[in-house]
Amino acid sequence: MRVLMYHGIERVSSARDPYGMFVAPDAFRQQVEHLLEAGYVPIDETTYAAALRGADVPRKAVLITFDDGYVGVGEHAAPILVSLGVPSVLYVPAGLVGGRSDWLAARYRHPLLSAAELREVSAAGMAIGAHGFDHADLTRLGDADLRRQVVETRAELARVVGRPVRSFAFPYGAHDARVRLAVERAGYDHAFAVHDAVPGFANGRVDVNATDTLRSFRIKLHRHYPRARLATDRVPLLRRKAHDLVGRAPRVECDTHESTGGAR
Ligand SMILES: [Zn+2]
Repeated sequence: MRVLMYHGIERVSSARDPYGMFVAPDAFRQQVEHLLEAGYVPIDETTYAAALRGADVPRKAVLITFDDGYVGVGEHAAPILVSLGVPSVLYVPAGLVGGRSDWLAARYRHPLLSAAELREVSAAGMAIGAHGFDHADLTRLGDADLRRQVVETRAELARVVGRPVRSFAFPYGAHDARVRLAVERAGYDHAFAVHDAVPGFANGRVDVNATDTLRSFRIKLHRHYPRARLATDRVPLLRRKAHDLVGRAPRVECDTHESTGGAR
């Protein structure tokens, strides 16, 4: 199963998004249309959870996820997904609903969906999952704080959305054995990391970002991509070469920042 990880869906200049977390709405639409044309089968989080426990799933199953809950996901991504009949999961920090991405430097902060907007997108087929309470790095917290970010957050978010919260995405993709166990014990069905997946409660995802062209997106869908990425990650020069080969999407006020920075 492929799992894609997006952040914002909105046209944002690189000056305000140095980590390349915002994909333009037209690029996002092209990517989802490509999935459907290429025979990928978008699945929802219930199907994904069942497949983890051994249920049959189509060979080209793909789960679309978004982290952080930026307003553009409600404004742009949700209508596109509804029009194409594609389900998805949105991971939000429960304590920042209706606020801003306060964990980023002030000039890179962006508004986050409100409780009413979360209920709207949830009703439109976007499951809501937990992304901690305030996007803290869970591996750095004591037990009481960890509990707040994982256990209490789950109940709070379920109250806000009016539906059970079934899965978790680690802020910054950061996890260790203690954090994974806390998430598992809190009753979540599964949890997502980013690149450093661990079998059990830290499943991997493929990061789609502002620099992706349709060509690099197609390469990322290849079933060997996560392994190839890990390999090139250990060899930075090779990784840059790979980037040169597949190209980068043009961005407003383009800079040369690598899009894998620690802002997730
Ligand atoms: Zn995040």
